[in-house]
Amino acid sequence: MRNEGRDTGTMRRRYATLLALCVLQVTAAQPALGAVRTVTAARALPECRYDDVRTRYHEPSEWRRTLLDTFYKIPSSYVPGSLVSTERASLNGGYRIRRAVIEDLEALARTARAAGAGVAVQSAYRSFATQKRVFQSWVDQIGYEEALKVSARPGHSEHRLGTAIDFRSAKSTRALWDYDDWATTESGRWMKQHAWRYGWLMTYTNGDKSETCYSYEPWHYRYFGRETTAAVHESGMTVRRYLWETYHSDPVAP
Ligand SMILES: [Zn+2]
Repeated sequence: MRNEGRDTGTMRRRYATLLALCVLQVTAAQPALGAVRTVTAARALPECRYDDVRTRYHEPSEWRRTLLDTFYKIPSSYVPGSLVSTERASLNGGYRIRRAVIEDLEALARTARAAGAGVAVQSAYRSFATQKRVFQSWVDQIGYEEALKVSARPGHSEHRLGTAIDFRSAKSTRALWDYDDWATTESGRWMKQHAWRYGWLMTYTNGDKSETCYSYEPWHYRYFGRETTAAVHESGMTVRRYLWETYHSDPVAP
């Protein structure tokens, strides 16, 4: 009994000490928390640093909100559900994409074709292993530093989401990066002007690289759905800024 009593007394003292420490920490933390909130209120787009930090919305079902750049990634275990052939959208096969994009993709392809600006798929869903190979092949060709500018490291590619496509002209299989600017071709121009009407946005636009973190890719489009893309198109925001400002810049957002 005496032992128990002494132990209880010791525990009480420890508890009191712990409580005092907590109060001190909370008091000390107040100014820092305030400072963080002030910075967040400015909603500054982060610099394009290189790291491997898991992005906030990293579940396959959260694809509309998932921000990927040189800093944020999705886990290697990420596998999108319901992948189907791009043939389901009356396009060339051999590539897979989420079923959720098919209806709008087919409408896009049909309208582009009717306008004499037919498109085809150059690349769509890529697994972690495929992206690893793609990135490594760029490293082999142009070196690591240059590869970082034109290709995403494994885990950082939007192609993993199953909602991104590299388009090419239906009439030509010429490598997209061999054009001065694919967006000046018939198909590329049509995509730049109209893809948003069908739920697709060009992720790596031609402008300030600190906005997109990568070189200009006029062929790379990501699907968000028509309602979202109409709003983003209207705002003039890049995909990265839209995702950051809407879902990621607030540390306590749902
Ligand atoms: Zn791409």
